[in-house]
Amino acid sequence: MGSVRLDGITKRYEDVVAVNDVSVTVEDGEFVTLVGPSGCGKSTTLETIAGLTKPTEGAVHIADREVTTLPPKDRGIAMVFQNIALFPHMDVYDNISFGLRLRSFPKEEIDERVERAAEILQIGELLDRMPDELSGGQRQRVAIGRAIVREPEVFLMDEPLANLDAKLRVHMRTELQRLHRELGTTIIYVTHDQAEAMTMSTRIAVMNAGEIQQLAPPLTCYNEPANRFVAEFIGSPSMNTFEGVVDGDEFVAEQFSVTSDPEVHGLADGDRITLGIRPENVALVGEEDEPESATEPIVCRTDVIEPMGNEVFVYLVPGGGEAEVTTSRVDQLLMSVDPRADVAADESVAVVFDRTNVHLFDADTGDAIAHGIAPPSSEVRADDVEGRHR
Ligand code: ADP
Repeated sequence: MGSVRLDGITKRYEDVVAVNDVSVTVEDGEFVTLVGPSGCGKSTTLETIAGLTKPTEGAVHIADREVTTLPPKDRGIAMVFQNIALFPHMDVYDNISFGLRLRSFPKEEIDERVERAAEILQIGELLDRMPDELSGGQRQRVAIGRAIVREPEVFLMDEPLANLDAKLRVHMRTELQRLHRELGTTIIYVTHDQAEAMTMSTRIAVMNAGEIQQLAPPLTCYNEPANRFVAEFIGSPSMNTFEGVVDGDEFVAEQFSVTSDPEVHGLADGDRITLGIRPENVALVGEEDEPESATEPIVCRTDVIEPMGNEVFVYLVPGGGEAEVTTSRVDQLLMSVDPRADVAADESVAVVFDRTNVHLFDADTGDAIAHGIAPPSSEVRADDVEGRHR
């Protein structure tokens, strides 16, 4: 069974801690993606699983067998990298079958495996082409074919789509999902592209500074991010975040405030919080998508408008002043609205947040406090009273 278990993996390079005490169990047949910004330790983690890097501390188990000191070839894994290294003087068939021929597999077995891989990857008619007669996507498929014929227990993929153009990347994304469904083999995949992670994986491990910030199904990371880092990394465009402080029944940010019942969230006067709201959870007052449980209207000035076709991104300046753009902070609020919404640049508009999708984070640690904020206690009492009258 192709499960993978990392127990307390740490990798140090002199004064750099590339991976810091990572423990993860990937179940047999899962598609787990390690995602995070450049330098966060994704590749080092994958190379540790592959046996290309020896961890400073910790143990690696593949298929219930400790492999920490075994060479890559004895681990039951196959790797696909970003840089597709096909042998230029060999045709596709020979490229795919190279490893099997090296290990003296019988000809019939080789034929069978190559044929099956070619069928899965839909490259049957390319088997006698040379690499320079292939498109980028076809070359990547050949590289994956070479991994498939080895029939590994685990596929390790490091940014395999990074060198393809945007359209082909999206196409290969669906192909990889299909491949995973057909083979049922465990896949551990590395990317810095959160969209790839979201669309393909059964679970994603969001990494930052050598540590796993959250390991969960994609939608859990999206809807219930464990901390501010995950909240801002997952989702495009990013979640809006504002620094604020608890004052009575309000979360007060610099440009606006939102009423709530801080006690419900275990918060008290003076606590510093970060308030997060995704662009699609901001709505224009009076539009169809105005949420039932909305915060009080916030008056904003519209700045740049970006029509995307299926939606429109509207950059808002809360409070109506000039946007203060510095290297460290953009005091803007990004809203996504329906393309039919009546909105133009440099207007005054009123917007609300969907309370059920306002996120609160501890301003110091970044840890999530709440996903969805309570209405102010006075509002609850009004509802209660109404309820009793009914
Ligand atoms: P990612 O794959 O997320 O971009 P890496 O795992 O490649 O990140 O790198 C994590 C950190 O470890 C980075 O700071 C990187 O510079 C450092 N690092 C990686 N490999 C080496 C190495 N061979 N020698 C020294 N530092 C390294």
